[in-house]
Amino acid sequence: MNEAQKQEIRNKILSRLQQIREEINATKAIKTIIVSDCAIDQSNRVEQIRQNQIAEENIHKKTKLLGVLESALSQIDQVYFGQCEICKQEIPIPRLLIKPESKRCVGCEK
Ligand SMILES: [Zn+2]
Repeated sequence: MNEAQKQEIRNKILSRLQQIREEINATKAIKTIIVSDCAIDQSNRVEQIRQNQIAEENIHKKTKLLGVLESALSQIDQVYFGQCEICKQEIPIPRLLIKPESKRCVGCEK
């Protein structure tokens, strides 16, 4: 992996972090609306609670992904970054661009 490729992956991670943070904020905004609606409309309460749970799970999943991407970002300058943890081969750059948090190549992922 050369410096330009590293930079490209770094930018990809940064833009995904930004995107996920915005998605979390959007989900949080929806959640607030559901909560305030509950007070007014009792008939849809069950559905609203369900929606709220989905939103909660969504936030939880995305927050976890944020952590994974942040740790990938902090490891990008390490020699082992981009190396498959199983077969020690270099993970192809296109795969790292799609999924920068990959720790395994496609073959070892299965
Ligand atoms: Zn591998």
